[in-house]
Amino acid sequence: MRSCVLVLIMMAAGTVQMLADDGMFPMSELPRVNLRERGIELTADQLFNPSEISLVDGICRVNGCTGSFVSESGLIITNHHCAFDAIQKASSSERDLLQNGFIAGSRSEEIPAPDYQVRITENYRDISAEVLSVVQDGMSFLERTKAIEKRRKQLEIEAERANPGLRAEVAEMFAGRTYVLFLYTYLKDVRLVFAPPVSVGNFGGEADNWEWPRHTGDFSFMRVYTAPDGTSATWSEKNVPYRPKRFLRVQQAGVDEGDAVFLLGYPGRTARHRTASFLEYEQAVRLPLTVQLYQWQIREMEQAGSTDRAVAIRHASRIKSLANVEKRSRGQLQGLQRAGIVGKRRQQESELQSFIESDAARRQQFGDVLQGIAAVYAEMQAAGPLEIHLQQLRQACRAVAFGFAVVDAVNERAKPDLERESLWMDRNFSQSLQELRVSLRDWHPPTDEVMLSGMLQRLSSIKGAHDIAALKPLLENAEVSGQAAQRLIAGTQVGDVGFIDKCLSLSPDQLRSSEDPVVRLVLDLYPEYLRLRELDKTREGRLSRLYGSLLEVKEQFLRTGFIPDANGTLRFTSGHVKSYSPADAVVRTPISTLRGVIEKTTGQDPFITPEPVLRAWRAGDFEGFLHPRLGQVPVAILYDTDTTGGNSGSPVLNSRGELVGVNFDRCFEATINDFAWNADYSRSIGVDIRYVLWITGRVYGATELLEEMGIKQARGF
Ligand code: ASP
Repeated sequence: MRSCVLVLIMMAAGTVQMLADDGMFPMSELPRVNLRERGIELTADQLFNPSEISLVDGICRVNGCTGSFVSESGLIITNHHCAFDAIQKASSSERDLLQNGFIAGSRSEEIPAPDYQVRITENYRDISAEVLSVVQDGMSFLERTKAIEKRRKQLEIEAERANPGLRAEVAEMFAGRTYVLFLYTYLKDVRLVFAPPVSVGNFGGEADNWEWPRHTGDFSFMRVYTAPDGTSATWSEKNVPYRPKRFLRVQQAGVDEGDAVFLLGYPGRTARHRTASFLEYEQAVRLPLTVQLYQWQIREMEQAGSTDRAVAIRHASRIKSLANVEKRSRGQLQGLQRAGIVGKRRQQESELQSFIESDAARRQQFGDVLQGIAAVYAEMQAAGPLEIHLQQLRQACRAVAFGFAVVDAVNERAKPDLERESLWMDRNFSQSLQELRVSLRDWHPPTDEVMLSGMLQRLSSIKGAHDIAALKPLLENAEVSGQAAQRLIAGTQVGDVGFIDKCLSLSPDQLRSSEDPVVRLVLDLYPEYLRLRELDKTREGRLSRLYGSLLEVKEQFLRTGFIPDANGTLRFTSGHVKSYSPADAVVRTPISTLRGVIEKTTGQDPFITPEPVLRAWRAGDFEGFLHPRLGQVPVAILYDTDTTGGNSGSPVLNSRGELVGVNFDRCFEATINDFAWNADYSRSIGVDIRYVLWITGRVYGATELLEEMGIKQARGF
């Protein structure tokens, strides 16, 4: 199937914008990318070949990140921050794997990560016509979204029936225009194999996050298992290591400044085809509120864990992901202001509008497209504070999140399968439940009380919140909010798996008579959340139609086609190991070394270097891992590829497709990539393979892993 659809995806969207340096190219585009010109010695076919084994078969998605197979026995390398949740969930104050790191002494010691899944892309085909065939004139926007959603689900189910053992997922490549059905293998028995201590894996913490120069050993190893017959299975003692079709060769020689590199991975989301009015919404409402609300939550969780390591461990994963988004949002706000992106986009749009106006038929068809899009974002700007706070109420406060999951699941599961929210469809239910169960383990009622009380207090000053009957009595003043939070958290059982399971077995009517105070609160708020859900779908329907038209007229105007925004599907990007200049008279070179780790080490968090690393440094035990020109063990590398969140863990490959690093971040200025890529400031950051190997084999003695990856000199000299 793959072969015959190779070039269809983009054709459905028009022509393709080629030769731009930026670009997260879908696999369908590879034949048209000049790989030689980009310094890559492989052909498009060697990267991705529908009918043979190719490099792509060695790449996988690991939850929201990317990973690479590095042995024939299912060994995966990804980032420390991608395995963080598994490390945290396996940690306790007695056995603190975050702090001390983890090395499985044998396969039987590898630790299951029950909420992890590994996904491998098998196949894809364009199904735009089949999806859009259900859209009819005269449909409301809400009907349009629902019809498209339902059709997508039907096509997924049909594809899964036709391809037993595989999972089908439809991705929207261009809003309202292009849809692609991907077939994936999902593997569900994922185990932790090796993680350095957090002081290596997250060296520099939030101070250094999104910054260059960087000295973080952000890598970990996991392994994926299958049933003995090779089929996907959840954890079992009988399972055996997965045998990937292909694994990547690890190139211990690494790369140097100026070398070509490329990445394959699963970038999450970008918004480069969105309008200036969208950017204004981001700038005025969503990003500043994210910064505010996340800073507060992080502070509270840090405070709660400051005197109790067990509590700190429970909050560690959540703090880390909120802090990551918080700092990225600040980078984006700064970038939006400095880079003048909104102004430039406005200018492009006004030129486009003149082009539209210059022809009567065009004016008739596209005259109010930009205006229509702006109207949706204007509405979102006005409603944003209330909507975002309500959404945060059921994220910041975990009890409300659990209560919401129960109420939503019970109500949705009473509907026919195809009409449910996808989370609660039969094909997704067990995984959704598994994730919910695992997240209950970190529940800490005292923190949750602070979160609930704080969210209620914040809501009390938001316009429209007092109009919600279920909230009004809780918002009177800070004392009332505090007492309500105390009563709700003290009285609820939503943190208990048995209680959740019992609730899930009830009908909507039975659940409605629940006496649990948090379930009651959510039941009372549920109509409001449903209203917001429908509103979102209505907006999606409007935007989907309008963006479809916008793309069409932009293609006419620019006489070109476009690369779709990132959407969690497999992409290729390439560049070079390259310095950059973040400010006047400042040039930052692209390879950091172990010397920098030592220079930064203060002994205070987040700049602690563990004793085994210091010992190996003092002993000068580097042979086999040095950068020949710099005479040091290289730690991180900087390159000008086009990446975003989700590219975390992506293999950094040299011109021959060998693994020379693991991507984990971007520099601060490049956070704005998500809205606009730029050769001057867009830089991605990866951990150098030599540091990975030195830390794993030489410092922590996991030489069997190096041997498994085929590294010579694994045991030193
Ligand atoms: N460090 C980033 C993340 O976790 C990766 C990136 O966005 O470039 O999202």
